[in-house]
Amino acid sequence: MKIVLESICKEFFSRGLRVEALKNISLEVEDGEFLTVLGPSGSGKSTLLFIIGGIEKASLGKVSFHGERRSSGPMSAMVWQQYALFPWRTVKENIIFGNEVRGIPKHERNRLADQFIELIQLKGFENHYPHELSGGMQQRVALARSLCNDPEILLMDEPLAALDAQTRTLMQLELLKIWSQFQKTVVYVTHSIEEAVLLGDRVVILTSRPGQIKEIVKIDLERPRTLDMMRSQAFHKISDLAWGAIQDELLKANSKK
Ligand code: ADP
Ligand code: MG
Repeated sequence: MKIVLESICKEFFSRGLRVEALKNISLEVEDGEFLTVLGPSGSGKSTLLFIIGGIEKASLGKVSFHGERRSSGPMSAMVWQQYALFPWRTVKENIIFGNEVRGIPKHERNRLADQFIELIQLKGFENHYPHELSGGMQQRVALARSLCNDPEILLMDEPLAALDAQTRTLMQLELLKIWSQFQKTVVYVTHSIEEAVLLGDRVVILTSRPGQIKEIVKIDLERPRTLDMMRSQAFHKISDLAWGAIQDELLKANSKK
């Protein structure tokens, strides 16, 4: 599903103050693209995802989607840093939830859940509750729960930020593997330049508030991506470009605090 944003602006009013969160964002995300978004804190990254997901409305501008829309099922799914799993449901019950709500027949939703449990390598943990799992496992369940609903767009807001560095790296590679099988359009917000470059086809860099597009860096590293690539010259060259674009913005954002 292709996403087209045209001159998106978003302002919030809170306690009598007007906050301009996003300004004039025009962007096309290709069908099946993995787009990463970098920007200082407060630059409107989460707001941008909410607008694409239809959770927030843009103050100005237009969001449109090009591609076939299936009649059933949500079009987009969000994955957050907080895994937001239901603590009273087991792994399998969490993954099944969306299809239960959508009224998918029991044997079919069981089949789908089993397939996704296999995919996220949690076989044997189906009947565990979230508190019995590590952070990495919980995030895999959250990812499976989203994918199980067969969304056309996956919106991810710093989903791995709470994990330790090693688990995060493993999850990055796992996520890429899963994505390569499903070819969903992904918009992935992160504050890690390395993560943005390792995962993305392109990285969008936002300015400090109000968020505008500062630069879009194309990441022409081949796929599948590997950890070795992170040590390559090409990787460093792209990371340096991204770093160059974002560093002034980080300083600006910091001085506004
Ligand atoms: P980021 O995810 O890049 O850190 P956000 O999208 O969360 O940034 O927020 C961008 C700006 O909009 C911030 O200044 C934030 O305080 C403001 N903002 C976000 N959501 C709301 C809201 N619901 N009401 C008022 N202000 C908001
Ligand atoms: Mg945010």
